[in-house]
Parts: sequence; C-alpha cells; structure tokens
Amino acid sequence: MNRPVLTIVVPCFNEEEVLYETFEQLSSVLDELIEESLISIESKILFVDDGSKDQTWELIEVESEKNPKIKGLKLARNVGHQNALLAGLETASKQSDCVISIDADLQDDISAIHQFVEKFWEGYDIVYGVRDKRETDTYFKRTTALGFYRLMGKIGINLVPNHADFRLMSKRSLDELFKFKETNLFLRGLVPLVGYKSTKVFYDRKERFAGESKYPLKKMLAFAFDGMTSFSVAPIRFVTIIGFLAVLISAIAEGYAITQEILGHTESGWTSLIISIWFVGGLQLLGIGIIGEYIGKIYHEVKRRPRYAVEKDLYTIILEVKQQSEAVIN
Ligand code: UDP
Ligand code: MG
Repeated sequence: MNRPVLTIVVPCFNEEEVLYETFEQLSSVLDELIEESLISIESKILFVDDGSKDQTWELIEVESEKNPKIKGLKLARNVGHQNALLAGLETASKQSDCVISIDADLQDDISAIHQFVEKFWEGYDIVYGVRDKRETDTYFKRTTALGFYRLMGKIGINLVPNHADFRLMSKRSLDELFKFKETNLFLRGLVPLVGYKSTKVFYDRKERFAGESKYPLKKMLAFAFDGMTSFSVAPIRFVTIIGFLAVLISAIAEGYAITQEILGHTESGWTSLIISIWFVGGLQLLGIGIIGEYIGKIYHEVKRRPRYAVEKDLYTIILEVKQQSEAVIN
C-alpha cells in the first residue's frame, strides 16, 4: 500500500485560548507519522472555523502561512459541531485516503492517532476512539452520558458506547457517509450504519486544555433528544402504548363508576373526575408534542437546506494550484 494521505479535521468554535497548543501538538503528531513513513507527506490538518466570534480564524490563517501542513476552512456562520465536522470531512475527503476527526480542546488523547493509523494499515475502514475512563468529566456528565447510551441501546439505536467524534474513516467509508442526506445530523449514530470493517482504540479522556465547554447542559440535552428522535420512532410507539393503557384503565374506571351509580353511591366523584381530565389531557398533550417533534423533523428534512456554507477555503485551493502548475509543465 502506498503511504496514505491523512487529513486531521478539527472543528473550532471560539477556541482562541487553546488553538496554539492544538497547532503545536497535532502538527508534531503529524510530523512523527510522516517520519515513520506511516502517512504521506501530503498529509494535512484542517481547522474548521465554525463561525467563531473571537480570534479563532485569524489564528488559523496566520498559522497556515507559517506551517504549510495547517489549513483552514471558514464557515459563513455558526452551524454547530456536527455540521462543522461534516463540512471538514467533505472538504478533506476530496484529497485524502483517510480522515481523522478530533475536537480542538485536546480532550481526546492525540497519541491514539498513531494507533488509528496503524489500524488503517491493517485494513480497517473505521476506527473508533473510545474513552476508557471518564474521570475528568463531572460525575453528572458521566452518569447522564452512560444513561443516554443505555437508553439509546434499548430503543434500538446502535452507538459505540463512550465514543464521541474522535475517529478515523477511510475515504470510501466517508463517501458512503455523505450519502446520508439528513439535515438533523447525528454523526456517531450514522457512522455505524455505514458498515465496513471497524475497530476500537481505547484512550483516556483528559481535561479540556483551555477554555470552556461549548456544550452547556441545554445544548447537551437538545443533542441527546435530537439523536434519539432522528434515529428511532420508539418514543412515538411509547406514547401510543401509554395512550392505549390509559384508555384501558379508564374503561375499567368507567365500569366501576357505573356500578357505583347503580348501587346509589353517587355523591362524590368530583376528585376522580377532575384528576382524570387532567391526566388524559396531559397524555394528549404529551402525545401531540412528540408527534409534533417528528413533524418538525420532517419539515426540516423536506426543505433540504444546505447544512453549511463555506466562506474561505485554504485547503482545496492547493489542488487547483497544483493542477494549474501541472498543466503548465505539460
Ligand atoms: N464546536 C463547534 N461548533 C459549536 C460548538 C462546538 O465546532 O457550535 C467544537 C468545539 O470547538 C470543539 C468541539 O466542537 O472542538 C467539541 O466541543 P466542546 O469541547 O465544547 O464539547 P464537550 O467536549 O464539552 O462535549
Ligand atoms: Mg471538549
């Protein structure tokens, strides 16, 4: 096998505090891999600026002038981690044999990258980075994450537990991934659906190197809910079952009420009546809400809106220049 061209894709949103360190560490990993002849010298690191409000893009631009291995892609506005990542993957896959995605904050152990590449050499198309321990995450984040994977598993969504978006994908597996055209992106649910030969590499998750998490609780919950409703109709089915049970229970209650009526014990009943009105009303609202959630998804999907817009691309340009210079030589 020829030495593969690797591109490391790094989505960044307001990451100015951590970027220098990330440039440094990732490019030294890349240099090592090149030195060991594991990857081609054409390999690059692509930083995707997801509409940051701080100096992130300026830093990337300056660094890319100093270091030819560092490239940048500037999105026109903030589109969220998943879409930013997809933008990077689509751009990178055009000129790479394999692509690794990693967060900018250095929480994922970059030394695992070496093993990723080795696995790629062994013939794996997808290599999942899996967190061994999550000691550095808060207790709350750890337990909610675990509960999330369990719940997803129960309703039939196959996720790799404790795997975020730190992974290697071959070009052909990426091409398959890009065929999923959904707007509600949940990449770690989609990648296992691609298939191909895959394996896991375990690593320790570290503290964020600098800056704050861009995933506050509200975003995290939205992400989890999105993941669930994007892949499964189990919540709808659950509501249907509850609705069915409620009808059954009220039928029994009705029988009871009628017997009481016939026996002449009709004085009370307001309490049970009002409770059931609220109960059934609540159920209906819940049901409508969840159905609405799916309809909302359909609404977004049918629009087929673009998932991101590129403002500046320091990555793809090189190909055009290369083609031009080759054309001149020929
Ligand atoms: N990120 C992004 N767009 C966003 C939010 C986050 O590109 O709207 C990037 C962020 O810069 C980081 C990665 O996604 O590289 C993961 O975010 P973060 O570390 O804040 O999440 P956490 O690790 O706390 O789940
Ligand atoms: Mg992080």
